[in-house]
Amino acid sequence: MIKVENLVKRYGANYALNDVSFEIGEGEVVGLLGPNGAGKSTTMNILTGFLAATSGTATIGGVDIREDPIEAKRMIGYLPEQPPLYPDMTVEEYLNFVYELKGCTLERIPHLDEIMSVVKLGDVKSRLIRNLSKGYKQRVGIAQALVGDPKVVIFDEPTVGLDPKQILEVRNLIRSLSKNHTIILSTHILAEVQSVCQRVLIINRGHLIADKRTDELARTLEDTVIYRAKIAGPEREVLSALRGMNGMKTVTPTSEKEADATVYLLEGARGVDIRKPLFRLLANANYPLMELAPTGTDLESIFIRLVEKSDAGNRTGVRK
Ligand code: ADP
Repeated sequence: MIKVENLVKRYGANYALNDVSFEIGEGEVVGLLGPNGAGKSTTMNILTGFLAATSGTATIGGVDIREDPIEAKRMIGYLPEQPPLYPDMTVEEYLNFVYELKGCTLERIPHLDEIMSVVKLGDVKSRLIRNLSKGYKQRVGIAQALVGDPKVVIFDEPTVGLDPKQILEVRNLIRSLSKNHTIILSTHILAEVQSVCQRVLIINRGHLIADKRTDELARTLEDTVIYRAKIAGPEREVLSALRGMNGMKTVTPTSEKEADATVYLLEGARGVDIRKPLFRLLANANYPLMELAPTGTDLESIFIRLVEKSDAGNRTGVRK
């Protein structure tokens, strides 16, 4: 349904997206996850035709967004982070306005009634948008994305600024839409992906660093314990000592530092408990071990680990 190939977006010398490729099948619900500045909005803006890529292609339902933007956009509903609502219109007036703007050809009254019933706006349809709560305004934003019955719906940070109850409502709504739509959900909140999406694309600094099923992502690292170790001493030498240790599989320095100590992520080879030899190694070399703790294997830790690994790769010039 969506195919993105070698997408690059450059601003001057900076790459907001650097060679990103992925495919999303019909009916999939995919989370686009990454820290702030990762390139999520850029990806969505290219998919929705708001922004032109520097190079690469994006097709929606086989239609190239650049070659035939009108046809491609017809297949997409978009909820931007700040939905373009008109506060002086009632909900019903606004949805009629969007209907005309999109040149929708579906039978108007039943179509808009159905949308209002799906997103539960029926009770407030005659209210001015300005008088609605933030949660209801977000539903109006979702409703406008659904006008024209697009096959693909893209949500940009749909729950930002909502209270916990409203967050659950919006997530439930997205889940119910997933029965009939292909959905991309951009967020920096892992729990959101976990509760709504079957698959997750993780992007960091313009690179796609993971593309996995949500359950698979959690399983990937289940049987390897990774330790966070805060070790004092010159980073280059500590790193070389750690890398030379028997039974050590990977060593990744992070950007977390305290005085002369750096936090490293340490992964032992399968079946090896690295704690005792690590302690001996550091004691002999006189690099004090300030902290040692296993990282979790929950999605949050896996996400942080992936991002830190990709950051470390970037610092040493190694492309992921
Ligand atoms: P995200 O949505 O994941 O927070 P964005 O896609 O908004 O990230 O931004 C990706 C990168 O591109 C960031 O480093 C951002 O500073 C940069 N960027 C975005 N828009 C522009 C622009 N108009 N001019 C220059 N740099 C930009």
